[in-house]
Amino acid sequence: MLYNEMCGEKVSALGFGCMRLPMKGEEIDAELATLMLDEARDAGVNYFDTAYFYLGARSEPFMGDYLSRLPRDSYYVATKMPLWSVNEGEKDLNKIFNDQLKKLKTDYIDFYLLHSMSQGTFDKAKEIGAVEWLLKQKKKGRVRHIGFSFHDSYEVFEKHVTEDWVEFCQLQYNYMDIDEQAGDKGVDLAKSLNIPVIVMEPVKGGTLANLPDDIVEPFKRLRPDWSVASWAIRFAISRSGVKHTLSGMSTLEQVRDNLGTVIDFKPLTEEELDAVWQVRQNILNSVKNGCTDCRYCMPCPFGVNIPGNFSIWNTYHMYGDKGAARWRYGRMKEEERASNCRKCGKCEELCPQKIKIRDDLAAASAELEALLK
Ligand code: SF4
Ligand code: SF4
Repeated sequence: MLYNEMCGEKVSALGFGCMRLPMKGEEIDAELATLMLDEARDAGVNYFDTAYFYLGARSEPFMGDYLSRLPRDSYYVATKMPLWSVNEGEKDLNKIFNDQLKKLKTDYIDFYLLHSMSQGTFDKAKEIGAVEWLLKQKKKGRVRHIGFSFHDSYEVFEKHVTEDWVEFCQLQYNYMDIDEQAGDKGVDLAKSLNIPVIVMEPVKGGTLANLPDDIVEPFKRLRPDWSVASWAIRFAISRSGVKHTLSGMSTLEQVRDNLGTVIDFKPLTEEELDAVWQVRQNILNSVKNGCTDCRYCMPCPFGVNIPGNFSIWNTYHMYGDKGAARWRYGRMKEEERASNCRKCGKCEELCPQKIKIRDDLAAASAELEALLK
């Protein structure tokens, strides 16, 4: 197992994300989840990441039961404060945090994060004194290291990662998202500030594990024995500045595949990295049109959500994930769907990309409606 130094701790390069543990109906499949966690631990994984609301608030108590059977100094546990649920400042912060300690059956959290931060939640953190509260918990020994997980633009990241209190940050990062959210620029900035980066969503919620064969041909040609998902995990772990990569595992096969990647880990070579860029380009080339979500064409007088339909259609062609496309299209109101376009043409005059919106909506409608049948 590869270990990295992070905030003075020896942390396994791969962490167990506990937001997608296997379920049996409404409950966590305790037997299978325990088997998966045991295998990961036996192979040297020592970092377990959960959050207050993961799995309908079932993740923390399950992990508390599991981890409390182990020596407390044999693992690191990470959990997060959902500021969006804090209405009464310190009172709610204490209430949620005490609840977390109780559920996780511990006196302290090793890595504690403000959860899913954006400009709005950073503003709220300031307003309610969340950072002062965090520093107080640290002083009391109830949290050991403090940071934040992040979903917003690079500009917002740049503004907040430089705050004195930040010891580490957790970013969405994978070979398709290098220009999204904090992205490559964010990882480089954190590295220059000596702030360790924890990667989340290295496999982009599973989409980079199940790509069509023609898209991943460069992977198969170079390393036929590597799984498609393992390329995404290797990419994240190989990235300079990344100290830890979380994988939200749901099956024993995923655990074994990920462990196979990190045991005797070798960073991607130049040739392997080239294959990653080729696959990325193959995915980008599969986009059906160049809608940039600028929304100049909106509103449609008949209620069609033009960029929403194009986003689903493009993503479907990029990743080939029928289930995700069906789910997203099915959740749209009927009048918002591509099938409701009356071909008036009003939108096309407004599109700076000169997209033939009517033709593309007709094509998107034919494919997406077929998924609903
Ligand atoms: S062409 Fe279709 S999508 Fe465009 S404005 Fe008319 S009805 Fe709406
Ligand atoms: S104006 Fe064109 S590029 Fe902008 S959202 Fe509408 S279709 Fe997409």
